[in-house]
Amino acid sequence: MIFYNKSLDHKFIDYGIQIPISKSRSEKCFDYIKEKFPEKVKETDCSGLLPLSKEDLLLAHNYEFVSSLFNEGVEEALITCFELRNEDGTWNRFDPDLATKSLSLLKDEILLQGKASFLSMEQSLKSQFSYFLGGGMHHAMSFGGRGFCLVNDIVIGIRKLQNLKKIKTAWVVDVDAHKGCGTAELTQNDDTIQTLSLHMGKGWPLDSEKFDKDNQMNPWFVESTIDCPIFEGEEDRYHQVLKESLNQLEKKFEKPDLVVVVNGSDPYELDELPSASLLKLTLEQLLKRDTFIYHWLKERKIPQTYLMSGGYGRHSWEVYAQFLEYILKES
Ligand SMILES: [Zn+2]
Repeated sequence: MIFYNKSLDHKFIDYGIQIPISKSRSEKCFDYIKEKFPEKVKETDCSGLLPLSKEDLLLAHNYEFVSSLFNEGVEEALITCFELRNEDGTWNRFDPDLATKSLSLLKDEILLQGKASFLSMEQSLKSQFSYFLGGGMHHAMSFGGRGFCLVNDIVIGIRKLQNLKKIKTAWVVDVDAHKGCGTAELTQNDDTIQTLSLHMGKGWPLDSEKFDKDNQMNPWFVESTIDCPIFEGEEDRYHQVLKESLNQLEKKFEKPDLVVVVNGSDPYELDELPSASLLKLTLEQLLKRDTFIYHWLKERKIPQTYLMSGGYGRHSWEVYAQFLEYILKES
């Protein structure tokens, strides 16, 4: 099952935000697979879709932050999250003159996407596999959004399913180029959710704050259940590390009721975000990554759901499209 609806795509430029997320990343991918498999692929009906509620957000975030999203604090929360202001107060990658929509409306779009992430997870419990062409906001922390991630749809979705008694346990397998720091912080005291993060060994977010050895509570450095840093030039190790880390999770923990794959395409060598440039996997290596995870979970009969997460510039859609083409051929 592939979840896609054009209305769920953010058009950042409508808000004056100049992040190199190709506005047609999901659309290009969807159009490609739709053309190849017209019988199997259709746009999801989102007409009755409601955004994540305040109660949903409180499953992951603290009261102060959640409240700020529903009052005049929302613009500031978005400015922080999307890094739109420099230290000297000037705008960064943001030109309010280009905006055709008020920034606060972006929150509503994000909460709608977050709900679609949840529905995709719920769907995978029935059909074993689902892919949502959106979501994956893994940097959002309990106390606020950052790194282009306003709310953590991954943890919210899992906890919503737990509250509905549809699952007890879940793993988050995060293969975005950047460490899933928000997911790690949010689940550090939750033994029902295990997190695996395979990411660049250096760069953002690992260098986002000075490491404070005396302050082990520094939220930026909370460890995932398993962290696998890959350093520059170590791309050849990537596949082996992925395999070993999944096997390690399996050894330590019981089979989960659901796995959410945070399927960032930003490790791609053609990705255009400067802060993702320390990891350069080829298209072939990325297909090997995704199909390995897919078969590993399928063999174990674990429901799996994928979220797009990071992927920047003109080529990022290719990574998602090749994997979905593989899945559709197989099914
Ligand atoms: Zn990323």
